[in-house]
Amino acid sequence: MNSYDFSIFWKESIKQLKDDKLISNQEFDMWFTNINYVESSESSIIVSVPSNFYKDQVKQRYLEILENKLFQLSGRKLQLDFDIIQKSENNHIKIKQDNNDGDRVFEPQIKSEEKTIPEKIHPQLRADYTFENFVVGNNNIFAANAAKGISENPGSSYNPCLIYGGVGMGKTHLMQSIGNEIFHKNKGERIVFISAETFVSEFIQSLKNKTQQAFKNRYRNNVDVLLIDDIHEFHSKEGTQDELFHTFNALYDANKQMVFTCDRPPSELVNFANRLKSRFEMGLNVDLQPPNYETRLAILKNMNDESKINIPDDVIEMICKNITTNIRDLKAALTKLIAYADLVGKNITMEIAQNQLKQAFNAPIQANITIDRVQRIVSDYFNITPNDLKGKKRTKIITFPRQISMYIIREVTDFSTTEIGLEFGGRDHTTVMHSCQRIEDRMKTDSTIEPLVMNLIRSVKEHGNK
Ligand code: ADP
Ligand code: MG
Repeated sequence: MNSYDFSIFWKESIKQLKDDKLISNQEFDMWFTNINYVESSESSIIVSVPSNFYKDQVKQRYLEILENKLFQLSGRKLQLDFDIIQKSENNHIKIKQDNNDGDRVFEPQIKSEEKTIPEKIHPQLRADYTFENFVVGNNNIFAANAAKGISENPGSSYNPCLIYGGVGMGKTHLMQSIGNEIFHKNKGERIVFISAETFVSEFIQSLKNKTQQAFKNRYRNNVDVLLIDDIHEFHSKEGTQDELFHTFNALYDANKQMVFTCDRPPSELVNFANRLKSRFEMGLNVDLQPPNYETRLAILKNMNDESKINIPDDVIEMICKNITTNIRDLKAALTKLIAYADLVGKNITMEIAQNQLKQAFNAPIQANITIDRVQRIVSDYFNITPNDLKGKKRTKIITFPRQISMYIIREVTDFSTTEIGLEFGGRDHTTVMHSCQRIEDRMKTDSTIEPLVMNLIRSVKEHGNK
């Protein structure tokens, strides 16, 4: 008997294929609207296609990219298998009999609602989204501790909990860690993870099919832990918001745990019913900030340790210097190098890494930008000398370039304010902080400063390549 359901990974991988513009909309419509998810096994996903021709085309064009996506999303090597299923006029599924190329013959089965819960894998949760794999730094320690607290005592102290933060900041990972932790404690809680988007479409479907009662019942009475991802997607969906409001109340009254993620604090949600917003604001709101350099390094080193291929430290450091905000992009860069090393059978050198990752970094690569380099470029630009920047003079002609240099160094390197101060004639770190603040303030009131700074940063980075 089979208890695996990887349909969410399938759906998400084709969605990303489209969203990431890896294929054109036209191609997508041509090939993907006729493919349907059928079922999963431990190591594969089976989808149906209408003909052999279809199967060959899709395999040839997209198999590799889809299997890679599935791996990225699920953390498992899932093989994609194709069944050929023709639909007859009256829409009954007919199985093609002349299946002479070795594909297995598919027997349509009505999936029973009462699926047995697999022993180890929760059907909606990624097995690798766990607390063990979640690196804790200053940026997320509060959220991580709250999440652990919830998994120890669901439905009691932090209910509801809303985790907010930008894209790729770890919201989904942290939320699913809660689910996985509770799941593995095995006390029989019914855990439901659902994206807001799916919640909306299931709700609309239930209206169409006149199965609202079943929908209500499912979420209000049959859940102990409800995890809804990306609730900002509910904006302007009044009907669904209304439904969620009542679901919320029912679960809250029954002391069932709810966790939500959102791309912003609830107060900033637009086109949201106030009564729902205020529900999200109840309980605990925690945010995930971008990780600092040390945390980024810890995340990638962790990942590198887990991988069978070892990427050298200097390469890992270079990635962490260049990808600063989004952890998803950070990890994707390392994944790419690991895949490259695996496929080509070469050790990754700095040069290979820079070449392979050129596109992942939307700015030129900065392998080793020094304070000295920034001082030279900025002083050249203002027609003064690096010694002027380090010296004592406090005329405007010197202080402005000095502040800009400090600001740029803060932006593009990981030197501490103390280290920067030392390179500017032994100034105190508070002076450095103050200078950076000055530039930030001036950018807000003087629109010529930002382009100037950006240009200088560009030159610094370009020189960094030579
Ligand atoms: P979000 O939901 O905020 O967009 P995700 O939870 O999807 O972000 O995280 C993006 C990627 O970054 C995932 O691969 C996730 O495992 C990883 N990630 C995020 N935060 C951490 C962390 N603190 N430690 C390890 N991996 C992390
Ligand atoms: Mg997410």
